[in-house]
Amino acid sequence: MRVVVDRDRCEGNAVCVKIAPGLFVLDDDDYATVTADPVPAAHEALAAEAIAECPRAALSRND
Ligand code: SF4
Repeated sequence: MRVVVDRDRCEGNAVCVKIAPGLFVLDDDDYATVTADPVPAAHEALAAEAIAECPRAALSRND
C-alpha cells in the first residue's frame, strides 16, 4: 500500500507521527511526509490507523 498526504488539508498536528513514528515525520514546513513508499507490510496496520485517526482527513490510501 501507499499513503498520500494532502498538504492542503494537513495542519501538522502530528497525530500520524505519534501513531506511526517510523512511518510519518513532519517536514520543515510542518507537513506530514511518509518515510516509506510503498509502506512495508509490517507497518500497514499502523498506516491504516493513522489514516483513520487523522483529524483533518489528510491521509489517504493509494494502492
Ligand atoms: S495527523 Fe493528519 S493533519 Fe496531523 S500531521 Fe498527520 S497528516 Fe497532518
